[in-house]
Amino acid sequence: MIDFRSDTFTKPTPGMLQMMFRAEVGDDVFNEDPAINKLQAMLAEKFGMEAGLFCASGTMSNQIAIKCHTQPGDEVICDKLSHVYIYEGGGIAFNSGCQVKPLEGNLGRINASQVTEAINPNDIHKAKTQLVSLENTANRGGGSCYELSDIQQIKEVCLKNNLKLHLDGARLFNAIVAREEDPKEYGNIFDSISICLSKGLGAPVGSVVLGNKEFIDKARRVRKIFGGGMRQAGYLAAAGIYALENNIERLALDHRHAQQIVSALKGKEFTGSMFPVETNIIIFEVKGKYSAKSLTEKFKENDILVMAISPTQIRMVLHLDVTEEMVQKTIAVIENL
Ligand SMILES: *Cc1c(COP(=O)(O)O)cnc(C)c1O
Repeated sequence: MIDFRSDTFTKPTPGMLQMMFRAEVGDDVFNEDPAINKLQAMLAEKFGMEAGLFCASGTMSNQIAIKCHTQPGDEVICDKLSHVYIYEGGGIAFNSGCQVKPLEGNLGRINASQVTEAINPNDIHKAKTQLVSLENTANRGGGSCYELSDIQQIKEVCLKNNLKLHLDGARLFNAIVAREEDPKEYGNIFDSISICLSKGLGAPVGSVVLGNKEFIDKARRVRKIFGGGMRQAGYLAAAGIYALENNIERLALDHRHAQQIVSALKGKEFTGSMFPVETNIIIFEVKGKYSAKSLTEKFKENDILVMAISPTQIRMVLHLDVTEEMVQKTIAVIENL
């Protein structure tokens, strides 16, 4: 099977497993797990931020960050397609008691003037606007990337209005590699950043949330309350360390593979409109003789798994378990559909 359903389907490679097997571990609730401490320090250093906290999932990292930045009754501004809003089980309401003001963005990205307009006035009838959450790359925008200058403008609005700024960076390294950016530029701007280790980076489990020391102290307390205080989880953190050392630059290969598949799809009668493909995610409309469901089945008959994300849209995600050979085979299958 060639699995394009998500970059979460990757399995640890022998090298990663070796690193996990050899991990030095301790009780992380007591801050005594050397592998976890190393992973947190590595990422904090990369982004020029003070500290990091290893979490069980990207959802947990995001939810902890939102909880730390807000009080019940506050309002969070984000794009209406944000993962924090549509794919975290209503967690903003459940965990933080906040409401969301979802904005109609451009491929999952919002801009500074939209944020300005969305801020509630200081009026007792209104929820207190407290946090802006961005997503880079934007999953439901087809892996679209923000311009750093646009993020900077949003930051200025946040500073002027006393709002915190969080980044759901589940696939931030895809953006950094695609745009050849310096991670420290993100560290300079955001109050908190969550990074997934279990997407394109290829680790089996884990995410790290980054911020200043005061934020991370608070986040550590919230993580415990959420039931995320793990003990010898350094075996998992070791996979993350391996991923940071070996699997970042290679994301460019996934982006090239995505472009090769895009070229093949563009020649087909069944391919309707497609989101611009900047990174490792391809989202396209299906038209003509197939529906999203029947095309998904056709692919499956050819040992290829793709995901129908709506009745008319298919998503294909490139990752490190999709080899050059598999890409060529997929292109040959597409040509015959
Ligand atoms: C995958 C993902 C997350 C986190 O998901 P988990 O499955 O909880 O690790 C967060 N944000 C985005 C944009 C994602 O794609």
